[in-house]
Amino acid sequence: MEDSMRSNSRRAFLKTSATLSAAALAGGSAVMTACSGEKKSSSAPAILSNETFEWKMVTTWPPTMPIIQDGSKLIAKWVEEMSGGRLKIQVYGGGELVPSLEAFGAVSQGVAEMGHGSAYYWSGKSPAAQFFAAVPFGMNAQQMNAWIYSGGGQDLWDEVYAPFNLISMPAGNTGFQMGGWFNKEIKSISDFKGLKMRIPGLGGKVLTKAGGAATLSAGGEIYTNLERGVIDATEWVGPYHDYLMGFYKVAKYYYYPGWHEPGTVLELFVNKAKFESLPKDLQQIIKTAAFRANLWMLSEFESKNHEHVKKLVNEHNVKLTPFPDDVLKTLKTYSEEVIDEITSQDALSQKVYASFSKFKKTIHGWADISEKLYYNAIA
Ligand code: CA
Repeated sequence: MEDSMRSNSRRAFLKTSATLSAAALAGGSAVMTACSGEKKSSSAPAILSNETFEWKMVTTWPPTMPIIQDGSKLIAKWVEEMSGGRLKIQVYGGGELVPSLEAFGAVSQGVAEMGHGSAYYWSGKSPAAQFFAAVPFGMNAQQMNAWIYSGGGQDLWDEVYAPFNLISMPAGNTGFQMGGWFNKEIKSISDFKGLKMRIPGLGGKVLTKAGGAATLSAGGEIYTNLERGVIDATEWVGPYHDYLMGFYKVAKYYYYPGWHEPGTVLELFVNKAKFESLPKDLQQIIKTAAFRANLWMLSEFESKNHEHVKKLVNEHNVKLTPFPDDVLKTLKTYSEEVIDEITSQDALSQKVYASFSKFKKTIHGWADISEKLYYNAIA
């Protein structure tokens, strides 16, 4: 039975491939015929309504934050252009309409129709939310996208946000982050004892397990806190944003990798009732803009990070240093303990993390025989 299904699907696949390659071999004229045929059978996009909508987007980001807040504004621009002006979105940075960390509640209650942030900010509302942002020693950007879009993650995300009258979707990714800026060397795990570090989320809980003191200060205060010794270390994002923050002037050591945020997902969350009341084409336009922002932000980070890591080392004498292997190993063990504690206390976290960790295990197995060896080979 299974064998015959397999051979049926193989036949179907081969048949499709043959059709495609025939079209490709025939060249431009075949492609043009296919296109013009398509044009005849489909009319202009169905405009279901001429009603116009004016929405508000609140974000958790500083109003001028490069790439991330830029991307939030681009979502609004793209939606307006794609909808021919039928859906206009006014974007507010953190604190402009509501404080950054109240964006979730504001959209849930309909004060604003949508928001841009990252799901780990809402772990106080639902601990399961943070698994849709960043998990220490979790998955990178490409793998997070694969889990959410194609591996069942989105259904679980919908389930976690449903009690809040929200839906959410990936709408940006920072890519791999850096381990942070330290004013002393980290030679063993005991160097974390008593270390005051600005590090949010699950990473902060891991630092606490290692004997450190995790603090959470707003972006604007980190530099001064580090300069004055209020904190001994900080993480932020990656080389580009860290460069703009000027941390190289007040801390000597720049550690990698960002074990705590291997590919942080940024999200567009939308009031569910308001979303469902939109015509279907506008719903698709929002989803399409989020997809585009997801790829655009990651591409911007990837493109600017490698240039700026060079700048930091060559122009500012930053000591770029890897965490020792045994430090990473111990941090990984602590991360597993932190996650165990969360999932044992919350059924939904357990359900989400079961899906996350199962996906991670198999996709890391695939990475082992694809990218991992390849990176070593081209080094
Ligand atoms: Ca970070």
